[in-house]
Amino acid sequence: MRIDALTLRGYRNYREAAVCFDSAVNVISGRNAQGKTNLLEAVYLLSGGRSFRTRFDRELIGFEEDFATVEADVFSGGRAQRIELLLRRGGKKTVTINRVKSTAAELSAVVNTVLFCPDDLNLLRDGPAARRRLMDLAICQLRPGYAQLLADYNRLYENKMRILRDYREDPAMLDTLDDFSDGLARASARIIRYRASYAQRLAAAAAPIHREFSGADETLGVQYRTVSTVTDPTASEKAIYAQVCAHQLSHRAAELASASCLTGAHKDDLEITVNERSARAFASQGQTRTAALSLKLAEREIFLAETGEAPILLLDDVLSELDAMRRDFVLNRIGGGQTLITCCEDAHLAEKTGGRVITVDGGTII
Ligand code: ATP
Ligand code: MG
Repeated sequence: MRIDALTLRGYRNYREAAVCFDSAVNVISGRNAQGKTNLLEAVYLLSGGRSFRTRFDRELIGFEEDFATVEADVFSGGRAQRIELLLRRGGKKTVTINRVKSTAAELSAVVNTVLFCPDDLNLLRDGPAARRRLMDLAICQLRPGYAQLLADYNRLYENKMRILRDYREDPAMLDTLDDFSDGLARASARIIRYRASYAQRLAAAAAPIHREFSGADETLGVQYRTVSTVTDPTASEKAIYAQVCAHQLSHRAAELASASCLTGAHKDDLEITVNERSARAFASQGQTRTAALSLKLAEREIFLAETGEAPILLLDDVLSELDAMRRDFVLNRIGGGQTLITCCEDAHLAEKTGGRVITVDGGTII
């Protein structure tokens, strides 16, 4: 899939801008604060209707504007398609796909992206939530029912937390505690199977990328970690459910005492190792960055293998902290699909990738 043309009106610092993209590599170049990330964000918006920088659509609208539009000609599923987004200050956004009013969720059937931004450089150092998000965002794009499953899980979790927090004031609340625990165990079993299978694929796809990336002397390992009683996270839903319930039962008293939810998929993590040692504890800055990038590039490969289409790769400011060898690796590796990569005025970069250079200056595209 690819984006051929993009038009922005009133979006962030773009009053009105139109840009055509190359089907391979596009280098978005410019000084700081000119609109490079904003442009990437607009493309990201086409793949699910949300920004990666804010939950609030109103922040995407230009300071002086009442509304913003993002319109794109894309090629996906073997045909030309058109996406139009309208964001209104104080109103709901509207999405149309091929002139038909659609939901934001339907966008991901047309455009998929894999984003790597400076925050992701800390993927391995951050808490487990960042790594759950890595899995969840990818699985959401691959499995249509998964987003709903996560939403259901979060609702059950919130309800259970409310009981654990407030039952002392209102003991009658305890009547429904076991129902919520059971619902969470059931949903956990389903989530665990999805995540375990994705983690396996991620491990297989990321290891060779990382090996090449590091000049063949590092081995990247990815291990899925979930509820401790689960012996095989790829087993049947029924088997996992039983094991989660066992954990749940043995922690029931502790949950009531500590007012926290101790069992379930909300505590999952990915354990990442470099040369068999915990990356979080021992890897260098450069190694953790390389590993994070390998995981994202693996995501694109998994998606390609599964759907036959490479998602659009969005790389925001990723090169600045890598040594020359690792930089070259990134630049050699990003072919094989459409890529948008931002950088601060680096003429060599464009030469190396053979890509199209798009220069951004104060919200205008030159
Ligand atoms: P850097 O190299 O520092 O990452 P950048 O080119 O990626 O810079 P952007 O993050 O795209 O810069 O932001 C460019 C400018 O857009 C910033 O100066 C910011 O103040 C401005 N901006 C952000 N949101 C809005 C908005 N809603 N309306 C108008 N301008 C905005
Ligand atoms: Mg930026």
